[in-house]
Amino acid sequence: MTDNFGVLLHDPQSGATAAIDAPEAAPIEAALQKTGWKLTDILVTHHHADHTQGIGPLKDHHHCRVVAPRDEAKRIAHVNETVGEGDTVHVGSLEARVIDTPGHTAGHISYFFPADKLAFVGDTLFSIGCGRVIEGNPEMMWESLLKLRALPDDTRFYCGHEYTDANIRFAKTVEPNNKALAARAGEVATLVAAHKFTIPATIGAEKAANPFFHSDDAELAKSLGLSGSPAWKVFAEIRERKNRF
Ligand SMILES: [Zn+2]
Repeated sequence: MTDNFGVLLHDPQSGATAAIDAPEAAPIEAALQKTGWKLTDILVTHHHADHTQGIGPLKDHHHCRVVAPRDEAKRIAHVNETVGEGDTVHVGSLEARVIDTPGHTAGHISYFFPADKLAFVGDTLFSIGCGRVIEGNPEMMWESLLKLRALPDDTRFYCGHEYTDANIRFAKTVEPNNKALAARAGEVATLVAAHKFTIPATIGAEKAANPFFHSDDAELAKSLGLSGSPAWKVFAEIRERKNRF
């Protein structure tokens, strides 16, 4: 897996360290070794194998706590604690609020750390894109994106995959005149050329540049021939175009 992000969140005060999802054990072990951090928690966003298959070996080695979405706990091995909308999760002294963000999978959740202005959104939101609607429906996915769009503008978010470059190529076909999108395209081209990650991005920047966040914009609806349609239908149309792109 070359496009999966595994992220470690470390609380210097307590020494607690969480992996957000566990795509593969080996790179996480390597990062732990390099930092000298001890893995205390794994926070899972959804059940897909490319987010969970590292859990077993990591738990065997570190005896860490595994927190997973309540509605998907049966599909994820080694779970200690299940959570859903409004629940609080602590990683040492760091505190996250759980947000239900279904659509990509039926029970997908995101973790928002308000004091740290950090969000871990799994495969719901990508920079200049969003996840495929696999188990839910477009209406559900749109509602989930609205919840993430409502987070403070300066929230930095980490998603499950490095898809930004490909997302930009598609986004330009939907919003060819979006200046923020053009600016992000330039920034990402520089990062990609330097073999750097394009993540994290901020919610505020995404609000300006990500067409999926504009599904309730009348101009965009009009340009897609969907004037007067509910936002979720505009979202469904953009998502469908992306699937075919
Ligand atoms: Zn997924």
